[in-house]
Amino acid sequence: MRTQVAIIGAGPAGMLLAHLLAAEGVESIVLEIRSQAYVAGRIRAGILEQSTVDLLRSAGLGERLDREAFEHRGIYLQWPDERHHLDFVELTGRSVFVYGQTQVQKDLVAAREAAGQEVHYEISDTVLHDLESDEPSVTFTDSSGVAQRVTASVVVGCDGSFGPSRAALPDGVRRSWEKTYPHSWLGILADVAPSTDELIYAWHPDGFALHSMRSSTVSRLYLQVPNGTDAQTWSDDRIWESLATRLGHGEGGWKLTPGPITEKSVLPMRSFVQTPMRHGRLFLAGDSAHIVPPTGAKGLNLAVADVGLLAPALAALLLGGDSRLADAYSETALRRVWRCTHFSWWMTTMLHATGDPFDEQLQLSQLRWVTSSEAGATGLAENYAGLPIGF
Ligand SMILES: Cc1cc2nc3c(=O)[nH]c(=O)nc-3n(C[C@H](O)[C@H](O)[C@H](O)COP(=O)(O)OP(=O)(O)OC[C@H]3O[C@@H](n4cnc5c(N)ncnc54)[C@H](O)[C@@H]3O)c2cc1C
Repeated sequence: MRTQVAIIGAGPAGMLLAHLLAAEGVESIVLEIRSQAYVAGRIRAGILEQSTVDLLRSAGLGERLDREAFEHRGIYLQWPDERHHLDFVELTGRSVFVYGQTQVQKDLVAAREAAGQEVHYEISDTVLHDLESDEPSVTFTDSSGVAQRVTASVVVGCDGSFGPSRAALPDGVRRSWEKTYPHSWLGILADVAPSTDELIYAWHPDGFALHSMRSSTVSRLYLQVPNGTDAQTWSDDRIWESLATRLGHGEGGWKLTPGPITEKSVLPMRSFVQTPMRHGRLFLAGDSAHIVPPTGAKGLNLAVADVGLLAPALAALLLGGDSRLADAYSETALRRVWRCTHFSWWMTTMLHATGDPFDEQLQLSQLRWVTSSEAGATGLAENYAGLPIGF
């Protein structure tokens, strides 16, 4: 097979890149190790930044989003006996949107299917070749067991944190930074109306809790748990009791309404960045180059921002022979990646219990500052609602 851009990974980064490239008149083939249903069903991100929504709308992917997403003006930040609302619209003129990654994926798949996009699902043995030549290629075994090769002008690794692309950069070229955290999140989906109009981020001596949502009838909630926790050791009753304590059920008359839990899983937390995001004819985008803990709601948004930069860069390179944007891609994308990496780390360290009484006082001091000083609140709001793509 031959195409202009071989894209490895049909997650949001890969599918959105294929969509944006098609709009620029650039052909691509997408290769995915999992089934279409598996990729579509993964419960992950839920918060879209203003820039992500603007980009999806401008790419013709905003119709269902505009009908079904909830626009939020801000978030609540709380600690025992105090809850504060940060109004991002007042502070920065930007808002965030509750629209699940499953929905974004569904919209992308529908748009690419309608356009006849070539996507090979359930492949195996993905190997990248000749990345420093003008004719790089990807070999794989297709779902029928037949060995295949896609030769392209460019290969883009959108294959997430476990894919082969990031390791395809030579040893002397690639550099990485990593931080693991001592805690994980126990996340649940519950068939119950959210007990809040906007997300609640709760600091508590027992550990962090987050009340998020997916729709007017489905709530998404998280509890800080130690690494290595088995989700099955937490009964539904224990989960709801812990959420009630940490989220302040009964304080100021606020009530947490429990409901049937339909999904329960533990997510470890990690910060990781690999540079450069381009080597020869290989480009990296999304989780293949960087991972953030979910506290700042940045992972999906960063993946979108990467491909928002990469699509016009590849179009200029492949259609006009102009390599300036492609040459600048890694440096430009990494400015935002490091900003979001810092913000996600900062939110994580501010909100998660460590068991150290000194940390506790610093966290409470920081929380008081971001909820009482306009400068502190604006810094958080600007990062959470998201800086413009290309920042
Ligand atoms: C529980 C959870 C909650 C999250 N919450 C948020 C949030 O609130 N906000 C936010 O912005 N982000 C959030 N994130 C992060 C977000 O989900 C990811 O950053 C996002 O999925 C990145 O998209 P991607 O396309 O780069 O990678 P992925 O979605 O991981 O897609 C990569 C694809 O590549 C495929 N692949 C892997 N190996 C190969 C191979 N060898 N050959 C071919 N294909 C391959 C994979 O199967 C996968 O489909 C969350 C993540 C999790 C897990």
